[in-house]
Amino acid sequence: MNEKLLQFLWQHSLYNTVGLRTISGEDLVVIHPGRLNRDSGPDFSEARVKVGATTLVGNVEIHVRSSDWIKHGHDDDPAYKNLVLHVVFENDIDHAPVNTPVLVLSHAITDSIIAKYSDLVNTDMQLPCAGRHQVVKTITKEGWLSRLLAERWEQKLGEWNVLLNNSADDWRNLLYWRLAANFGFKTNATPFLLLAQSLPINIPTRHKDDLMQLEALFFGQAGMLDEDFTDDYPRQLQKEYDYLRKKYSLKPVNKALWKFMRMRPANFPTVRIAQFAALVQRSVHLFSQIIETHSVKEILPLLDVKASEYWDAHFRFDSVAEHGASKALGRTSIENIIINTIAPIQFLYASRQDTEVLRERALQLLEEVPAEENKIIRIWQENGWDVVNGAQSQALLQLYNNYCSSKRCLECTIGHNILRQA
Ligand code: SF4
Repeated sequence: MNEKLLQFLWQHSLYNTVGLRTISGEDLVVIHPGRLNRDSGPDFSEARVKVGATTLVGNVEIHVRSSDWIKHGHDDDPAYKNLVLHVVFENDIDHAPVNTPVLVLSHAITDSIIAKYSDLVNTDMQLPCAGRHQVVKTITKEGWLSRLLAERWEQKLGEWNVLLNNSADDWRNLLYWRLAANFGFKTNATPFLLLAQSLPINIPTRHKDDLMQLEALFFGQAGMLDEDFTDDYPRQLQKEYDYLRKKYSLKPVNKALWKFMRMRPANFPTVRIAQFAALVQRSVHLFSQIIETHSVKEILPLLDVKASEYWDAHFRFDSVAEHGASKALGRTSIENIIINTIAPIQFLYASRQDTEVLRERALQLLEEVPAEENKIIRIWQENGWDVVNGAQSQALLQLYNNYCSSKRCLECTIGHNILRQA
C-alpha cells in the first residue's frame, strides 16, 4: 500500500463501503469523497461524511499509517486544522493525534485490488499493463486516446503559441520554423530549428529564384561550408555564401550540432537541407495553402520536393555515393510532416480563430494519415493494439511517454479500469 493508491481507492470508493466505523466506534457513511487536491494542503476538500448522526463537510487527509500525521508535520500546520476525517490504511498509534474522526480502511480493501496494482507498478515489462488492457472496452480506450491527443497538442501548441507571440503573430514565420525542425526529424530537429532561426525568412524569400543561392544560405548557415572542398558544387556554394553572409551579417550555427551517426544516408541532414531549400524555392503562399487544404491528397503535391541534382550522386559533400538516386522527400516523411507540423498548425490557427470547422479538419487530417512507425508504436502493436492512424499513434506516444514509462497507471483510464475489474 502507498499513499497514492489509498487516495485513488478513496477517490473512487473502491473499498467496501458497508458497515464503516471510526476507530472510536461511531458509524460512518461517506456521502461524497471530496475533490482531490494536487496542491499543498489536505488531500481532499469538500468531502461530505456522516459520523454518527452528524453530517460533516470539509477536508479529508489520507495516510498509509496514522503515525504519518506526525511524520509529515501536520500537527502544527494550520492548513490541517478542521479536517472532517483522517483516513488511514493502518492505525499504528494508540491515541489519535488529531481531534478528528479516524477511519481505518485496511479491512475494507480487497487483497486482489492491491495485487493488481502491485502487478502494474512492480514489473519490468515495457508496457506495465501488457496482457491486461484487453479487459478495457474499446469505447473507453477511444475516449482516453482523444483526451491524450488533446493533452499532447495542448503541450506542443503551448510552445508554438509562445513562438507566435514572439514573432508578432507571423504565421509564415512559425510555419518556416516548425517545418525546418520537422525536416530535422527526431535526430536533427534542434540544429534545423536553430538554422531557420538564424536565417530570417525574408532572406531566403528574396533569393527564391536562385536555388544555388538558397542552398548556399542554408548550407552556409548550417556551418557545413566551412571546409576545403574538392567538388565544384560546394566550392560554388562557398563563394555564394561568402558574399551573402557579409551582405546580411549572418552568423552560422555550430556545425558540431549536426548528427550523421546511426542514420540511413537518405536521412542525412545534408540531404534534408537540400530538400528544405527546394521546398522554400517552390513554395508560394505555403501557409495559406496549408490552412486551406482538406486532405492528404491536397497536401502531397505541396511537399513533393527533391534535392538538387548534385545530391543524386551524393549523401555528403565530396563523397560519391555507391548507388545514385534522386533524393525526393518520401511519402513516410511527408506523412510525418503532416502529423507533426501541418495538422497541429491548422489546429492552432483554428483555435486562435475560434473556428470549429477548421479544428475538425485538422483532426480529420490526422485520422487520414497512417500511424507513425517507431519503437514506441511497435510496443503497442506487439501488445495487441490496432494502431491505424496518426491520431491514434500520437495519443499512444503521449500515453507511453507521460504515463506508462513512469508507471502513472493510477492517473490513466486504462489503469483505472483494470483496477476496477472484479
Ligand atoms: S499507464 Fe495505463 S496504459 Fe500505461 S501501463 Fe499503466 S495502465 Fe497501461
